[in-house]
Amino acid sequence: MQRTATGRDPAASGLQDWEGSSAVMLSLLRQASPLADPLEQRRVLDQRPGDALPAFAATLEQRGCGPLRAAGIRVLQVNVGKLCNQTCRHCHVDAGPDRREVMSRETIDLCLDVLRRTDIGTLDITGGAPEMNPHFRHLVQSATALGRHVIDRCNLTILLTHGHEDLPEFLAAHRVEVIASLPCYLEANVDRQRGDGVFQKSVQALRRLNELGYGQPGGELELSLVYNPVGPSLPPPQDTLEADYCRGLRSRYGVEFTRLYTITNMPISRFLDDLLSQGRLDEYLTKLVQAFNPAAVDGLMCRTTLSVDWTGRLYDCDFNQMLDLPVSESVPQHIREFDAALLSSRPIVTGRHCYGCTAGAGSSCQGRLVEPA
Ligand code: SF4
Ligand code: SF4
Repeated sequence: MQRTATGRDPAASGLQDWEGSSAVMLSLLRQASPLADPLEQRRVLDQRPGDALPAFAATLEQRGCGPLRAAGIRVLQVNVGKLCNQTCRHCHVDAGPDRREVMSRETIDLCLDVLRRTDIGTLDITGGAPEMNPHFRHLVQSATALGRHVIDRCNLTILLTHGHEDLPEFLAAHRVEVIASLPCYLEANVDRQRGDGVFQKSVQALRRLNELGYGQPGGELELSLVYNPVGPSLPPPQDTLEADYCRGLRSRYGVEFTRLYTITNMPISRFLDDLLSQGRLDEYLTKLVQAFNPAAVDGLMCRTTLSVDWTGRLYDCDFNQMLDLPVSESVPQHIREFDAALLSSRPIVTGRHCYGCTAGAGSSCQGRLVEPA
């Protein structure tokens, strides 16, 4: 196994005895897996023994940091559908080429209308592969015309597929921030998690983005990479790993990027399936609970983000969305009923999966939540 300048292989944490890390061919839905049903996922999580694995809300209360409430809406995170050109092992969306859920133009326009009526500064577009939504460019163009910061959560390989070849230029022209998953800078580890050949295609896409000015030191076009562990472990320290990525990608492939975000795997969807099939769910949940860090609670992304699903329903975050846990019944449930005052201070709906956000340095779509001391 290759090692880094710091003597560690970043993807090796928990990998040695982890057998579930290889790309799958079909989504859980198409496999007719019971776990394709969010209710079944919640049932599995909720039935774990309560002594060692207390409810998240109870832990917040016990540690004096609950109940959890929103503190404004800085980010509108729009999940434009579950269709994707990849079928990654850990996907919390259960996305893939076999999924058909795609946000309509009408719902996209409702999201744009909310941006028009509010001062929400950031539109965070996710999926699936969001670029596969036929209205993706309309959404980007309209949001940037409103002066909003736009994020595209891009899987990189989509930039090389038929019909999307000019996407890098489009993204650069609209100054879209690209946030891209790359769970390692070593080929074998990426391909195990995301599919054969994904690493080389990702590098090719990164080079194209670099040529357009993305990720260049001192440049304005931001290209962030996202790391998540291959196995059932917490991410290594973000700064150290970023330095390893920087060295590895630059020396081996001549690739530059702006920053690295580390994200903890959520015990839901396909990663939950892996944990169950290896009999390691309780071990992983216990690890998350024992690593609970009260300092991460203040910055939890649900406190400043509102998540929208492909039908327009509202959630506290993309993870709650996938578990079919909508926003509190006390506030509007659909983007067409958006009410800034009510939604900005809503109570947050939580579950055992939330320990994934508060473990260690904390975790969010923007990486760790707690700066090192
Ligand atoms: S690229 Fe992203 S959305 Fe697509 S299967 Fe992989 S993790 Fe899921
Ligand atoms: S899973 Fe969602 S609701 Fe739970 S703590 Fe994380 S961001 Fe908040």
